[in-house]
Amino acid sequence: MHIHHKIVGLFTIITAVILSNIYFSLNRNLREQAFERISANIERQAVSIRTLLERYAGAGNDDYDDIADRLAADFQLRVTIVDATGRVLGDSNLDAEALRTIENHKDRPEIRAAFAEGSGVSDRYSTTVDKAMLYHAVRFSRDGQTGVVRLSIPLAELEEIGSRLRRLLVVPLLLAFFCIVILNTATAAVVSGPLRTITAQARRIAAGDFSRKLPVRTRDEVGKLAEAFNYMIGHVRSRIEEVTTSKSRLEAVFLSMFDGILVVDARGSIVLMNQALRELLSVQSDPVGKRPMEVIRNIEIQELTVETLTLREGLIRRELSILMPEERCLLVHATPICRDGKTQGAVLVFHDITELRTLENVRKDFVANVSHELRTPVASIQGYTETLLDGAINDPDNARDFLEIIHTESGRLAALISDLMELARIESGKFQPQFQSCSLVGFCRRAVEGLRPMAERKNISITLDLDERLPPVRADETQLTQVLINLIDNAVKYTGDNGNIIVSAAAAEGMMRVAVSDTGIGIPEKDIPRIFERFYRVDKARPRAQGGTGLGLAIVKHIVQVHGGDLTVESTPGRGSVFTFTVPLAS
Ligand code: ADP
Repeated sequence: MHIHHKIVGLFTIITAVILSNIYFSLNRNLREQAFERISANIERQAVSIRTLLERYAGAGNDDYDDIADRLAADFQLRVTIVDATGRVLGDSNLDAEALRTIENHKDRPEIRAAFAEGSGVSDRYSTTVDKAMLYHAVRFSRDGQTGVVRLSIPLAELEEIGSRLRRLLVVPLLLAFFCIVILNTATAAVVSGPLRTITAQARRIAAGDFSRKLPVRTRDEVGKLAEAFNYMIGHVRSRIEEVTTSKSRLEAVFLSMFDGILVVDARGSIVLMNQALRELLSVQSDPVGKRPMEVIRNIEIQELTVETLTLREGLIRRELSILMPEERCLLVHATPICRDGKTQGAVLVFHDITELRTLENVRKDFVANVSHELRTPVASIQGYTETLLDGAINDPDNARDFLEIIHTESGRLAALISDLMELARIESGKFQPQFQSCSLVGFCRRAVEGLRPMAERKNISITLDLDERLPPVRADETQLTQVLINLIDNAVKYTGDNGNIIVSAAAAEGMMRVAVSDTGIGIPEKDIPRIFERFYRVDKARPRAQGGTGLGLAIVKHIVQVHGGDLTVESTPGRGSVFTFTVPLAS
């Protein structure tokens, strides 16, 4: 219901109540006054008639009906006379015939009171004359007899007053009523109009439209309200702008964060999940409003969320592993969002530590491997030296064999150390290759030159299938020679007597593709992905005797990567292997 209607309705009711009150109390007052006047009059007349009856009225005239008629004519009233038994002796309104049949008046209240106390009054409806009447009765004594004379007057005058008042007042009162209602309606419109404008403005603000201000037309309360409203609009607008800016700033931070962010509300439903986390956990659908379990399929994350929501303060730090979409290790920091002592939600920050853990494992393995690799030749050297010192030195045949073993083992130790240093240098990041344009044919010749004696011992042929016109490559000469030496060295090592090794190259799409193929023992398929790891050997027993350190391919892979190329291998066990690497052509 509009306030306008409320005001009009309320004032209409109040006006109607006041006006009808005025009308009815005026009516009652005038009636009372008239009644008092009539009863005072009739009382006076009753006293006069009693006097007349007792002292003067025609002695000897016993016709009370006649007396009643006369008195009525004089006083302009109805006069009834009853005897001590209540029988009606005379009545100005009834003829002799009617008098005989009229009932006894002894029990009429005014007559009973007159017999008892001298006078009695009563106003009631008269069945005899069929009108509302006022009666006044007085006791009289005449010729030793007691009776009651009763005067009655119709109360029609009172009715007359009522209808006169109606005629006089109804129209002006109705007029006043309508004028007041009209005035009221106009006033209500004046009051509720600005309120309606303010309401409409409030609705616009709720819908986000701050463009309009309220007009301030008056200096009264409504004007002040409009002013306060305009001030509030400005204030709210700047606060909303502030909030929006900081929200978008926060969103930008969340979005650009490398770590995954998950925010849930007090019931554990997702409020926010940043892109990094969606990618990390491969969340495809819109996660907002759902529980973590519904989109992440990981019970640990769900449990951690619930646990965090039961906290009042503090931080939970937990390492979790997920299997989907791929095996990953995550470090999660979860903290509740509390306001006024109530938990309103929780924030979970996911940090992908898979690489860190892998690196840690690699480092641990590496240290263990290095120790193991170093211990073997050192133990061998120590053993043979001790044997020599213990007397074997005096046995020239054995002494020579032992010294040769010591020589080989120290050579292995030196090779191992130099490979380790090489690897450390390349991996340290301080390694700065000296790129220059150089001929591939030159490298290959240089690399093969050093290895030929070893190959000849096993009667292995090394063929350089290279075109002299091959374009130059962009490489660090020393490094690239190292790559070729390692690959050809491996080919020789892992090829049996009378085998063949072919080094070939071809240029395509800005890269030089160099292949070293052999007819050696080959590599089982399951080992291929691992042979580039440090110290990984397919046959754990063989290579030591052949002088391998297990680091050669790891070094090759690093150097090729630093050059911007890649290294691949194809192999068939028992038939041979082909190692292929690429290097960019010199532009
Ligand atoms: P190593 O010093 O033991 O040769 P590498 O890193 O050079 O270490 O090679 C790792 C492993 O890869 C070797 O132990 C060997 O088992 C395998 N491998 C490398 N090259 C060849 C090849 N041409 N033919 C067969 N196996 C090879």
